[in-house]
Amino acid sequence: MCAVYRGPVCKLCRREGEKLFLKGKRCATAKCSIEKREYPPGQHGSSGRYRKSGYGLQLREKQKVKRTVQMTEKQFRKFFGIAEKQPGPTGANLLILLETRLDNVLRLMGFSLSIKQARQIINHGHVLVNSKICNISSYVVKQGDLISIRGKSSDIEPVKDSIEESEKMPQPEWFKSDTAARKGEILRMPTRDEITLCGGEVSENLIVELYSK
Ligand code: SF4
Repeated sequence: MCAVYRGPVCKLCRREGEKLFLKGKRCATAKCSIEKREYPPGQHGSSGRYRKSGYGLQLREKQKVKRTVQMTEKQFRKFFGIAEKQPGPTGANLLILLETRLDNVLRLMGFSLSIKQARQIINHGHVLVNSKICNISSYVVKQGDLISIRGKSSDIEPVKDSIEESEKMPQPEWFKSDTAARKGEILRMPTRDEITLCGGEVSENLIVELYSK
């Protein structure tokens, strides 16, 4: 069973005990549930954090990342498999692959407020990669790729809203984006230090240990 979680997303942050930034603008405000209630959801949540050790720690770390990127277990395992086959440390490879998925890149470039919203924009055919419609959110961008919002879609509400918000955000150096022209270019692949998912606070070795059992 590997269905995507469709319940209230703030519960996922509370479960992990940290912000996963799943709700766009709201995440940066005092309305964020984790700012208000920093204990896990559920009947016994407020009585304290669960004790974690060994397998529990590994599982939570994997769940934290998987929930941030909102992937099913099957999709996440598939990305792990690709990371394992690449040269270099598997954990860092995995994070770089996740960071460079088209849905996350769209968010980073300032064309969507969250990964979920990016997926909707991509699924509806509003995004071009190298001048061709790409409706695959899991597409992993490559150096030299040109990402743009399709001409007639450039003024859709989610894109306009996000551009306004993104002006306040620092931009990574591995791509350049021109929000006014609704386009961006991948200059190079990010390094492990440039990972923004989970604020870069990931112990990826725990995920590697979990899947290596
Ligand atoms: Fe909800 Fe965003 Fe706060 Fe997470 S970070 S609890 S998704 S508002």
